[in-house]
Amino acid sequence: MGQGEEKPEEITQETRLAALRQAFKERFGLLPQFISRAPGRVNLIGEHTDYNGGFVFPVAINRTVLMAVAGPEEGAPVGQVRIISKDYDKEAVFNLNQLDKAPEAERWTNYVRGVAWALGQRGLLAPGSLPGARILLESNVPQGAGLSSSAALEIATALALFRLAGFPASAVNRPQVALACQLAENGFVGANTGIMDQFISALGRTDSALLIDTRSLDYRAVPLGFADRSLKLIAVNSAVPHRHDASGYNQRRAECEEAAKFLANFYGKPADSQLRDFNLEELLGVEDKLAPVPFKRARHVITEDARTLKAVELLEGGFANPADLATFGRLLGQSHESMRDDFEITVPQVDLLVELAWNLPGVIGARMTGGGFGGCTVNVVETASVEDFREKVLLEYRQQTGLDAKMYIFDAVEGGTILE
Ligand code: ADP
Ligand code: MG
Repeated sequence: MGQGEEKPEEITQETRLAALRQAFKERFGLLPQFISRAPGRVNLIGEHTDYNGGFVFPVAINRTVLMAVAGPEEGAPVGQVRIISKDYDKEAVFNLNQLDKAPEAERWTNYVRGVAWALGQRGLLAPGSLPGARILLESNVPQGAGLSSSAALEIATALALFRLAGFPASAVNRPQVALACQLAENGFVGANTGIMDQFISALGRTDSALLIDTRSLDYRAVPLGFADRSLKLIAVNSAVPHRHDASGYNQRRAECEEAAKFLANFYGKPADSQLRDFNLEELLGVEDKLAPVPFKRARHVITEDARTLKAVELLEGGFANPADLATFGRLLGQSHESMRDDFEITVPQVDLLVELAWNLPGVIGARMTGGGFGGCTVNVVETASVEDFREKVLLEYRQQTGLDAKMYIFDAVEGGTILE
């Protein structure tokens, strides 16, 4: 295994499924009825636009939560869920008829409890109507790295609950499920996140990124054609832990709202207008009136929406013009600069990772991805340069920061599925 690289993609899904079924049998004495599977994600472009009504362009990645499920054990109270995380080697029990928050030691079950609760809240599924379940889950989505292991866990849970209730997968309204899972994260777990993560985990498409209008929830799959173009999608985890408090994120949200309110008032637009509703020209029209910080935040969001739509346009045009691929890459670079200078959510280590990538021939584009203050970069790299990338970027990064970055090569995969 190369330095700094994790290669669980060499462990095929078939192997993981077989091991999970076996472990389920050992633990519960029978085979699971089905396995629910949902992917993590990496966002190609469109950062911090989701709570501003804007556009995001994520990819569902070949790192997934696998959740093996059977009905409750005989004699168990109605609605009992016995759940084990194979990764944590921890077991917990709760009841679908009494969905309270978990004690601190079982905090990870809040994602599962929260989804059951939110499906009920949204009127999609009455958790109390289910007999209960035995669940064994396993995941290879890196946790807390900004690749959305939490959304993968939520979507896998939601699909499992629908399957337990007897709904065929085709009858599940996936955008509604994504909204319910977002509610679980916001209203039950207590993390203030947008709709992107759950949406892409539920609706991702093979070899494609999904353009999502986070306000209307219109979406379309845009084929990436990376294999045909000899390109690889690479994420690098900076190993700088996410800042644990949510203050940076909440502050950015507030600053964006302040800018949107100011713009709405100035241009006589509806009071609930979002930054999505304004263009750069309108923003520049208030440059000397709006406070500098909300102005910069708004400039990031407004230009990021434009970059996202432009990136999609170039892809959908099949990079017809010889310069289009480089233009596409430059949009990623500009996105990073905007996050660094205007939105101020990068950290020096992540800036360095991006800079090292850009210095390498064969790198089409590189930027930070995810919420910020640490986490991952996303890179589009020519296949022939991947080894070079591994050696030079990771090594130089370690020399300069003392940190061991991890590199992941991703494929774009299908959103959540039920494996019978
Ligand atoms: P991210 O979504 O960026 O990976 P979060 O903090 O939002 O980070 O979600 C990570 C949390 O999700 C973990 O702390 C844990 O509670 C839960 N989780 C993720 N994967 C698993 C797993 N395999 N087993 C149990 N809990 C998990
Ligand atoms: Mg998360």
